[in-house]
Amino acid sequence: MADEAARDDHWDAEFLALVDRVRADARLAARHGLLGRYDEENDPDRGVGLFEAVAFQETSELSDSGWLNRHEAIVRLEARLAAMKAEATAGYEASLHGVSADLGRRHPEPGDREAEPGERRWVAGDLRSTADELALVWQMHKGAAMVRIHTSCELVHNFPATLRALEEGQLTERAAFTIVRELSVLDDPDARRAAETALLEWAGKHPLQKLKQEAQREAARRSPEARSKAHARAMDERSVRIFPNSDGTAELVHTHDALDAGAVMNSLTRAAARRRRQGDSRSMDQLRADIALARLLPRTDTRGPAESVDNADAGLHDDSTVGADATVAIHATGAEIRALIDGENSTGGTAEHYGPIPQESLRKHLTRALTQSLLGNAGRSRIGLRLSDEPPTGKPDRYTPDAATDRFVRLRDRTCQFPGCNQPAEFADVDHRVAFAEGGRTTTDNLHCLCRHHHRLKHEGGWVVTSNPDGTSTWASPTGRRYRTPPPDRGGSDPPESGPPR
Ligand SMILES: [Zn+2]
Repeated sequence: MADEAARDDHWDAEFLALVDRVRADARLAARHGLLGRYDEENDPDRGVGLFEAVAFQETSELSDSGWLNRHEAIVRLEARLAAMKAEATAGYEASLHGVSADLGRRHPEPGDREAEPGERRWVAGDLRSTADELALVWQMHKGAAMVRIHTSCELVHNFPATLRALEEGQLTERAAFTIVRELSVLDDPDARRAAETALLEWAGKHPLQKLKQEAQREAARRSPEARSKAHARAMDERSVRIFPNSDGTAELVHTHDALDAGAVMNSLTRAAARRRRQGDSRSMDQLRADIALARLLPRTDTRGPAESVDNADAGLHDDSTVGADATVAIHATGAEIRALIDGENSTGGTAEHYGPIPQESLRKHLTRALTQSLLGNAGRSRIGLRLSDEPPTGKPDRYTPDAATDRFVRLRDRTCQFPGCNQPAEFADVDHRVAFAEGGRTTTDNLHCLCRHHHRLKHEGGWVVTSNPDGTSTWASPTGRRYRTPPPDRGGSDPPESGPPR
């Protein structure tokens, strides 16, 4: 039809223009390399020739437009690789197709094979999940790996046209994943396919920045319930998360219903405006942040505003605030505290949810904690200082570690000891590296902290842990691959993996 013919013409014209540009550049540059001679029609393996052309291109005398041609070629290769990565993910997922295990929200019947991609399931007697090992291979946080696994499997199994467009370099991975995420609310396969076709046609003619809104409109057009289903799905995933910045601050990200979030924002703005009218010199942004914090934290002062340490924040508290103990642990060694007192330059310690904190920040918090305790508010400080120095001897021949040993191990490990896991040691299990029944003793050397999930993975998932002389451990997965934990944290490493999800 006319439309299709126009589209074909459009693609042909674009392709010819690309070929023209590549050829023109080849003529311009004295030594153009292979990319100048790349001819898509002679590349039946879709990209193998292009990869060779890019990898072995002579770039020493490329013109500006030559560099841009190289970029265009690399973007196309990235799309091709992204399609291969999605297929490899779905392939690995299929290879672990076992009986779904306890998924927290559903109790599987024997023979139940309904596990969602990435979730735990029993495979040949082992507790496995694709997310555990793929996160290590991808060097990615497990939560982010889980999302990627879900989307990849959807793309490969339910969005063949989008996968093809990705393979051919007509979409970026981000665009393909957006299509999958927005259209997967459509349960009816015919409606999904129709929406996919319409969207790909649209994507060929428009800049991709608007793709998400167009995908949402397309889904809503095909199914009236799509929007409410997407909303319910998003509400199921509501959360409060913390993302450390590198400057001693952190982002606290809440996900709520849009109307509730808007109401919170309005309430903060009104309260901030009231304080501005009363002469508070802080900016609206600063006031909103301070008032939100005051509302979230339970009251720490019991003597009223006049004697409160944070006079500036007195009166920001909502009296209805009911909160549990609001403290955060800072792990430090005696040497680090001594350096702080002596005014020496060093990192201060390691804060829960954050990582190494600047000395100045530690000094400020310690001073505040000390002042509060002098004012008789002991135990109400926002920080809990955990000191770790000499290991206690404990009772090696008793299965359960005594209180001092348990405390020392948690302070030393600070997080779960599975590679890449950031679960705080405070909430973890203290586990024997070599099982007590197999001769392992209850000593600090033979104990480590594991979150419940990784504890189960070790005992039921076929992972084997060995200790290395430098204090690190090596985890061998059921596939035989080996992953090493980083050396014990003594304040010199980077903050934990961070950044809001893409
Ligand atoms: Zn863990």
